[in-house]
Amino acid sequence: MKFSELFCPTLREVPSEAETISHQLLLRAGYIRKAGAGIYSYLPLAHRVLRKIEAIVREEMDRSGGQEVLMPIIQPRELWEQTGRWDVYGEEMFRLIDRHQRYFALGPTHEEIITSLVDGDVHSYRDLPLLLYQIQNKYRDEIRPRFGLMRGREFIMKDLYSFDMDEEGLDVSYRKMYAAYNRIFQRLKLHYRVVEADSGAIGGNESHEFMVLADTGEDEIVFCEAGDFAANVDKAACVFSDDGPHEDRQALQKIHTPEMRTIRDLVEFTGQPEQRQVKTLMYYADGQLVAAILRGDRDLNEIKFKNLLGCQELHMADDASVRAAVGAGFGSLGPVGLDVKVYADLEIAGMRNFTCGANEDDYHYTNVNPERDFVPEEYVDIRNAVAGDPCPSCGKPLLTARGIEVGHIFKLGVKYSQAMNATVLDQHGQAVPMVMGCYGIGISRTMAAAIEQNHDDNGIVWPLPIAPFQVIIVPVNAKKEDQMETALSLYVEMQERGLEVLLDDRDERAGVKFKDADLIGIPVRITVGPKALQDNQVEVKKRWENEVFNVAIAQVTDTVVEIIRQR
Ligand code: ATP
Ligand code: MG
Repeated sequence: MKFSELFCPTLREVPSEAETISHQLLLRAGYIRKAGAGIYSYLPLAHRVLRKIEAIVREEMDRSGGQEVLMPIIQPRELWEQTGRWDVYGEEMFRLIDRHQRYFALGPTHEEIITSLVDGDVHSYRDLPLLLYQIQNKYRDEIRPRFGLMRGREFIMKDLYSFDMDEEGLDVSYRKMYAAYNRIFQRLKLHYRVVEADSGAIGGNESHEFMVLADTGEDEIVFCEAGDFAANVDKAACVFSDDGPHEDRQALQKIHTPEMRTIRDLVEFTGQPEQRQVKTLMYYADGQLVAAILRGDRDLNEIKFKNLLGCQELHMADDASVRAAVGAGFGSLGPVGLDVKVYADLEIAGMRNFTCGANEDDYHYTNVNPERDFVPEEYVDIRNAVAGDPCPSCGKPLLTARGIEVGHIFKLGVKYSQAMNATVLDQHGQAVPMVMGCYGIGISRTMAAAIEQNHDDNGIVWPLPIAPFQVIIVPVNAKKEDQMETALSLYVEMQERGLEVLLDDRDERAGVKFKDADLIGIPVRITVGPKALQDNQVEVKKRWENEVFNVAIAQVTDTVVEIIRQR
């Protein structure tokens, strides 16, 4: 491809709307343009990168027994009603109405469609296992579309669904996908970690996320350097053993705390650190008011709490209804004498003489002690894990890191097949629901994640397997015939060797061309300049190194092939 013909509108300025590096660079380097919030066009360079990621994903899916299909994006409401998700999916689902007033969803995911498809034509255990996948746009009306391709409302996903006759079959399919995903992210040359993920209160019991490590990641993961424990904080278990020496229980005291609403206010007012305060949070779980209490410096993990309660819907209670039920506002709540079910974080059991609200505005209790002053419904793990917590398997302190979720695999079990009555006949002629798994990779998000992890001050530094072109040839002065001739003959020669080459034939200053080559991130740059040319040489530079070295023109194609092979 000649640069003069390439549609690659680079920008000099950093676009103001872009907060993350990948978003900035994708816009600046002419890869994407925004059409609406969370909706983007992919320009030629981006399209090439996407095709490369997809090719690797396809190869590994096919190699694992997957068969590619393409299912509809427009999905009839009736299918979603069979699983109850037409109502449950909520506002993230784009819905549309046809001329006959019939409702449809724009596919956010494809469990319903594929389960009905497979159910229609698969009747016997002999037809299983079946692994079907597609690579296609997905639609989700995210509350906060942001960071460019990271969280779009239209994005590209590979989704595979496995159908087996029983749990053992699902285990095999799951392990195949687990291995395939590892191969994919290794081949993409990304630095990633597999973590245990939350799989929700219903559905399957096993789930893993593939996280590309980057400081800008939206997810937080905890991991143990000593072993192989790694989990999303959403899921990471907090262990607590109440074996420490306990201080003596002091007499319960009610104190006047005018205008003291927050933990910070109370730390100042009482002189007691956050670790000696307890906060009380009120939630509605399927319409029922419940309380969660935890140490003042801890954060409630809503996912753990929801799974524990086993409810469909969990949301924070509003001040007015809490006041109506308890007689006090948010800043003055506590477990003592509270007339709703109280779930206490595990740590609470080991706390002595703490401070908490008295369920009366402007009053708190100090020297509160569990069991003596209140008895919770249960002591449960409902807080977020933090760095330094003991590893649940070996006890060593955990570390934390940020990650970008690029892949997610999930055992669904019979959740969808049961709801949709998708059965096969087993060996005994008995109808059994198929056991399913689903396995997603965010293709467009992976492109952004690769940039978050691979860039410098000058632009993108693509991992070789997904670079839009492998080599860029830059004649220093396109008007000089000898330079252009050499550049052109190398261009032809390298193409014949199967290399993907960009020739910067533009009549621009060398500095501009070098800047663009760095910005768009082409791994190998060949410069054809007057000095080296006198000795029948050209300059070679790797995007990820600073040095430039001269190579004889006759050898340069071999050199480039070797650089790519080694990388
Ligand atoms: P998240 O927690 O980031 O919202 P999710 O759990 O909703 O992700 P899945 O339903 O498991 O995501 O989708 C599979 C993959 O699709 C994710 O691992 C991610 O890589 C990608 N993905 C999900 N939502 C988006 C989005 N809004 N924009 C881009 N990619 C996405
Ligand atoms: Mg999501």
